[in-house]
Amino acid sequence: MTFGFRITWLIGIVATALAMLGAAPAEARTGQLLDVCIVRATPGLSVPTLFRTPSRFDCTTPQSAYGSGDFWVLSQVLPTSLTHIPDLRALTASVWQDRVTLFVLYADGAIRRTGFTSRTSGRHLMIGATLSLTLPPHVAPPVRLLWHVEGSANLRGVVLGPTLATAAEAAESEIILSALYASFGGMAIALIVYNLALWGALRQSFQPVYCLLVLCLLGYAFSSSAALGQLVPSLDNNIRLKLNVCLLAICAGMVLVFARAFFERAVFDGWPRPASNVALATLATSGIAFAILAPWQIYWLDRLLTLSYIPLIALVPPVLYRAWRVRSSYLWMFTLAWGAPIVFASLRIAGALGLMSWSFWIDNSTMISMMLEALLSSLAIAYRIRLLSVERDDAREQEIAARLLADTEPLTGLLNRRAFLDRAIGRSGDQMLLIADVDHFKHVNETIGHDGGDEVLRVVARVLRNAVPPDALVARIGGEEFAILIDATTPVLPDTILERLRSQRMPFDMAITASIGCCTGPLQRESDWKALYRSADRALFAAKGAGRDRSRDAGILPIAA
Ligand code: GH3
Ligand code: MG
Ligand code: MG
Repeated sequence: MTFGFRITWLIGIVATALAMLGAAPAEARTGQLLDVCIVRATPGLSVPTLFRTPSRFDCTTPQSAYGSGDFWVLSQVLPTSLTHIPDLRALTASVWQDRVTLFVLYADGAIRRTGFTSRTSGRHLMIGATLSLTLPPHVAPPVRLLWHVEGSANLRGVVLGPTLATAAEAAESEIILSALYASFGGMAIALIVYNLALWGALRQSFQPVYCLLVLCLLGYAFSSSAALGQLVPSLDNNIRLKLNVCLLAICAGMVLVFARAFFERAVFDGWPRPASNVALATLATSGIAFAILAPWQIYWLDRLLTLSYIPLIALVPPVLYRAWRVRSSYLWMFTLAWGAPIVFASLRIAGALGLMSWSFWIDNSTMISMMLEALLSSLAIAYRIRLLSVERDDAREQEIAARLLADTEPLTGLLNRRAFLDRAIGRSGDQMLLIADVDHFKHVNETIGHDGGDEVLRVVARVLRNAVPPDALVARIGGEEFAILIDATTPVLPDTILERLRSQRMPFDMAITASIGCCTGPLQRESDWKALYRSADRALFAAKGAGRDRSRDAGILPIAA
């Protein structure tokens, strides 16, 4: 692949990725995003009082600054453009919490409630990990919403991305996100199947690792899309989140393991191998700690897990640098494949550490980067397989060339004695053996020199080869002695061959003739060959004795007992 082509390819990928991000709306969920204000839950606060006194809520401090605990979250006054529509939904992002009760204040002063606990939230979970609560129906339109959230980990907020949507809008987001996750799922399954099939053929150790990696990504998508929650509604949503967080850590670790299996050995030789072990151990320890200990100290466990991605990310530039130093063929593929996840992971870390504001797309960036990662790694595999196939084709060509060289006799290009015997012995059915010997060849050498003699031998060889069918074996078995083996059912008349030799124009216009002795018989074993050759040679001797430039046939040998 030329450098120019690679650059075009690279620009294409980056442009597509940017176009995808650019075209994406700031919020994937359609509907009206609501402003909310927060207050920490303290005993003695009643719902009517809270609805009556919005001033006690904090509308400026970011929710995550409050830490874990129980909270009241009050929405702005609902937009009247929406409130007359029946069947409204309050959508929020699924986050770690024990219980959510949503109170709805209606225009006539009535208050109705709905809600879920982390155990019962499965029924309200939509694809894309959005929780949807339908506002209880009432004669008067809804005016304001008040969430009571108990046991909130508040890692990035208590009520995240609160949105008021109609049933149609909620369905629309469901369809968009289902399409996103389904395409990822389909792609991941296809990648696993085709890589497993290829593994069967190529047995490269990176292939099962890649399948495991894609399986992890699939598991992560399955648990983060809440498809898992929909499939198992009884699953506690907090357990689902735990699983999701751990699967992400496993996926990240697997990417590194895959890189180690895929790159040439030299790239990870030396310090990168122990360093990558440390990065993997850090990730595993904090992942396991989160899985076991959360929700105890969940805020710090989450921070720890987020920070434990840093050694992994920090390892990427030096590894790429080493890959460049050892002129790895896969460098440019990995640069691309790792580029997107690193950018997104850095955004996530910045978002988690409060360095930039959280958005739906940062939350879902993992999916996009995983898609890119899986696709590009797969391209890297395809590229690697291409290199393997080129290597294999080269090796096969060299092998064929070497075998040809070993089987041919260099002066005439005919089979040599060994190759002739290898192919001759074992042929089924009677075979006709012809031994042709150039007449007075010593004299030819003396007249036109040894080189001229060589040229005569080349011409004689060509005449013999062209005088017999393609499936006949023709060999040079001695100085100026040739053997021809033909199936006895399609014999060639020796005199035809002699006539062709006579009429062939020879170097220095020398008149060249030969004598032929032939014999027919079975050729199953070494002993058959000896018998056949002895008789043909005797017939040749007879032809020479009778004056040369003629043939003699020893007839058909009986089948050996
Ligand atoms: P006859 O008709 O009885 O076969 O006589 P002849 O001279 O052909 O037979 P002889 O066996 O006495 O001589 C064969 C000669 O072929 C001897 C040798 O120098 C020559 N010869 C063998 N191999 C080569 C070769 O590769 N190139 C050349 N130019 N000559 C060769
Ligand atoms: Mg001779
Ligand atoms: Mg001879």
